[in-house]
Amino acid sequence: MAEIEKKILFERVAGQDRVKGILASSLEKNRLAHAYLFTGPPGTGKDALAVSMALGLNCENGTIGGCGICASCSRALRLEDPAFHFIHPVPTRPKSMKEEKYQEILRERAMARIANPYKPVNFSPEMTTLPVIGIDQIRGMKQETRLMLFKKGYRVFLVSQAEKMTLPAANSLLKLLEEPPEDTVIILTTSVFGQLLPTLVSRCQHIQLDMLREKEIADALTVRWNAEPDKARFLAKAGGGSLQRALELFEGNFEQKRELALELLEAMLETDPVVQLDATESLMKNAEKTEVQDILQMLLMLLRDLQTIRLGLTDRILNADCLMKLQEFSDRYPDLDLNRAARSVFRAIDFVQKNVYLPLILSSLNQTL
Ligand SMILES: [Zn+2]
Repeated sequence: MAEIEKKILFERVAGQDRVKGILASSLEKNRLAHAYLFTGPPGTGKDALAVSMALGLNCENGTIGGCGICASCSRALRLEDPAFHFIHPVPTRPKSMKEEKYQEILRERAMARIANPYKPVNFSPEMTTLPVIGIDQIRGMKQETRLMLFKKGYRVFLVSQAEKMTLPAANSLLKLLEEPPEDTVIILTTSVFGQLLPTLVSRCQHIQLDMLREKEIADALTVRWNAEPDKARFLAKAGGGSLQRALELFEGNFEQKRELALELLEAMLETDPVVQLDATESLMKNAEKTEVQDILQMLLMLLRDLQTIRLGLTDRILNADCLMKLQEFSDRYPDLDLNRAARSVFRAIDFVQKNVYLPLILSSLNQTL
């Protein structure tokens, strides 16, 4: 029985069985807190869990975690339900942009986030200022709590990335939490717990999400995004515990990046400096900083696979679809010091993060491999 229940609870959320269990049991016992704080590293599904919980609180089918298809769930997912409000950081309106257009963009991004909470919101190219949660957004929330709800159920506010609240906004929210309105549940989410006002934190029931296991990420990718199992397994590993990261790779042409990583490796093992320089230059031309980082990560995984092949464990490699190529590569460079190579790539990734000049990083990578 417990097994069956576990399967249908919060099915829109990947992994997090322990946390789902805690929430489900307080929902079943009707012991809801006025406010929740969901914390955990990026990509673990804080917003996914919060959206799911919000849907479930008013779901007409009574599904814990929301069915996603009843009238109430559908309205909430379209952001047209007066009982569900999504508050997240937004940029200020550029002077040249009409208010109408501004609202349209905000609405479109908010809906995309609700539809897939594992995908980060990006306001560029239309807007480039730093997104924050301002006092006006919290005032809007307060106003809503004064209106009557015309149905049974809960009014739910999801304040996503709560650390991005301005200080006045945070203080205003604190006042609301000190006198919690009836039948209202406020869910805050953040991956940087330490940046919230301690007074805010103490008013919320704190729920810490777990890192996702690779299998949970792979399962989510195959079931929800139709990734092939081999690819999903690889992406789960590459995502390092973050479904968000794995999805970014999935949608960001990772095969091409892996191809570039292999080319880079080959060029670096060339003794001819002209060939090395060519490869470095073409990489610079074709890739931005974030892409270089991705390519270096791919390179690390290729090195790990080469090591695995050397140990004769070919069934354990991550890039299973490239087995032939890797085998060939392994035969061609039997003397390559893989540990040393991996250390160089680790260092290069570190340099990229520290904003060291890219050509310098790549040329030093050439010399150390
Ligand atoms: Zn429903």
